[in-house]
Amino acid sequence: MQLLQVVNMFSGDLLRRYGQKVFKLSLHGGFSCPNRDGTLGRGGCTFCNVASFADEQRQFQSIGEQLAGQVGSVDRAKRYLAYFQAYTSTYAEVAVLDRLYREALAQADIVGICVGTRPDCAPSEVLELLAGYQRQGYEVWLELGLQTAQDKTLHRINRGHDFACYRQTVMRARRLGLRVCTHLIVGLPGETATDCRSTLEQVLAAGVDGLKLHPLLLVEGSVMARAWRAGRLAELTLEGYTAIAGEMIRHTPPEIVFHRICASARPPTLLAPLWCANHWTGMNALYNNLHTEGGQGAALGMPFQPAAS
Ligand code: SF4
Repeated sequence: MQLLQVVNMFSGDLLRRYGQKVFKLSLHGGFSCPNRDGTLGRGGCTFCNVASFADEQRQFQSIGEQLAGQVGSVDRAKRYLAYFQAYTSTYAEVAVLDRLYREALAQADIVGICVGTRPDCAPSEVLELLAGYQRQGYEVWLELGLQTAQDKTLHRINRGHDFACYRQTVMRARRLGLRVCTHLIVGLPGETATDCRSTLEQVLAAGVDGLKLHPLLLVEGSVMARAWRAGRLAELTLEGYTAIAGEMIRHTPPEIVFHRICASARPPTLLAPLWCANHWTGMNALYNNLHTEGGQGAALGMPFQPAAS
């Protein structure tokens, strides 16, 4: 599959910039989430079961141990990005964050960090901290969970923030020169292909450097799982995801880097759609769509041109 020929994928972007493969290592910083602990809300986002994307065992290991444990299992990479992924990875005092982030950056062969958080959980002092690492020559990505730009849906899925909050955070982060990667979900309750396109347009208008797209995964333990079991929530089909995500990618300018274009999970955590149990099912279908109907930027008349290798 020649996905790198039709989409500006992060792996290809890193390869071009570093001249070698760079791999993202996922970390658990022991953080919580303000949308779960009662600070902003309880119960969390209705699609969320943190256990489906975070390895909870890792929270008992130091950052150095987590990195060392993964380096050995990664093939062919000699450079790494430390990815603070679990929960809200800016949700602590700045001094605590600095200690954790520095512990990652101090490891050999780490070229930078990616920090996943909520738009309402990135105060200026945290952004300044991250910008400071960037000034030291590290690559830094602020990964913001937005999921949709539609306030009605954000309220419905209990995100606890609106699009204006996201736009403000992006503006502050990019003013400091930080790279922003925004996470979006296709298939949220009540949303159509038009809503997804509108979300993309609003995110592009706000300014963004990277995108992560994934289908709505219905996972055990989430609020949505109950609605799905009760027959009140339809699952996203492979064809539906491919058509919507394909159009979003075709409407994305070529310089924007896709950190992800699909996602998978394993049963029994994954309840539906079961085509998401296999990582390659969605990836292959999306590649076929992009290959035949046009790749990234094609709908804008500026198709992605992969650099000659
Ligand atoms: S998706 Fe993120 S912000 Fe929402 S409840 Fe889960 S950890 Fe918290």
